[in-house]
Amino acid sequence: MFRNFKVVSHVIFGRGCFNQLDDILSKKKESDREFVVFLVDDVFEDKPFRERIPARSRDFLLWVNVDEEPKTSYVDELKQKVVDFSDHLPAAVVGIGGGSTLDLAKAVSLMLTNPGSSADYQGWDLIKNPAVYHVAVPTLSGTGAEVSRTTVLTGPDRKLGINSDHTVFDQVVLDPELISDVPTEQWFYTGMDCYIHCVESLTGHYLNAFSQAYGEKAMELCRDVFLNQTSESNDKLMMASYFGGMSIAYSQVGICHALSYGLSYLLGIHHGIGNSIVFDQLEEFYPDGVREFRQMMEIHGIELPRNVTAGVEEDRLEKMIDVALFLEPLWENALGVSWKQQVSRERLRELYLRM
Ligand code: NAD
Ligand code: ZN
Repeated sequence: MFRNFKVVSHVIFGRGCFNQLDDILSKKKESDREFVVFLVDDVFEDKPFRERIPARSRDFLLWVNVDEEPKTSYVDELKQKVVDFSDHLPAAVVGIGGGSTLDLAKAVSLMLTNPGSSADYQGWDLIKNPAVYHVAVPTLSGTGAEVSRTTVLTGPDRKLGINSDHTVFDQVVLDPELISDVPTEQWFYTGMDCYIHCVESLTGHYLNAFSQAYGEKAMELCRDVFLNQTSESNDKLMMASYFGGMSIAYSQVGICHALSYGLSYLLGIHHGIGNSIVFDQLEEFYPDGVREFRQMMEIHGIELPRNVTAGVEEDRLEKMIDVALFLEPLWENALGVSWKQQVSRERLRELYLRM
């Protein structure tokens, strides 16, 4: 069966296009009684940017904290705040921030129209009802969360997305000016998420011409940004993130993401930095990609955290391996259908202990 997946229907791109958000939202409000929910990364709470958020008096602005990556419990809490705010549904939910905030916005828009806890929907196509109209405004680029059909959440049992057609944003606002002040390390690690999406997609068994077309362009843009340091790098990184996301939509990520999910679930290490820590150990699987990644680190003076798994108890290490191996399509994409013959728990343990 070929995957028949939904894509974002409206995209606006260009420096300063954030100024058009108010106009876009006004068209969605059918009456003055309607309101918009803004979920905004609290990194902007004391920045001048907050004055540019087009929240009107009836709207509901919620500052969200992403020091920890999104949890199902946090999504449920945010949803409850919206329910308590008004007896009717919002006309729109807008997420303004990095991948974590975009995922929170996706999840809240879904949970406003689907009963129960967000943890009940972690998996594939469990969502029954369409979400509230939802909009992404990325302020950090690399994850591809702005185009994907998932919202990655840490739940009581595992870190797993709510994957569904309804998860996909209705509108994406790509304004490269919004990513211009990201601190270098964060910019690099989230950017490497995109670079690794490209490597894993382009070297994977699931690759097809669709994924390759997007993946090769995203890879070229990543090289421009991180190796050649060409002009208009914010514009390019924003498009690399988008295209990288489109590439994996029709293929899959691979070993780095599988192991990084384990690190993140057990040690709370964020996605971009976790991927970088893992990728640096995967030369045997992705030799060219890892070499180029190290060159990029050197150019930008990035020092990876070391010994992150030192002293981790045996049962937690076992659980990390479980989390990684649970993600079967990622292994199959990387190593083919006979992947189980090529990776043992012992091998994964060695890899984790080197990180
Ligand atoms: P993030 O959203 O977790 O943010 C990282 C840090 O950067 C935070 O401290 C945040 O406050 C800060 N930040 C954001 N924008 C900023 C700006 N303009 N200036 C200064 N600081 C800023 O980082 P991320 O790497 O974009 O996202 C990681 C998350 O995305 C993880 O939770 C991961 O699971 C998720 N993810 C989702 C998908 C998907 O398809 N849905 C794909 C990959 C990753
Ligand atoms: Zn990723």
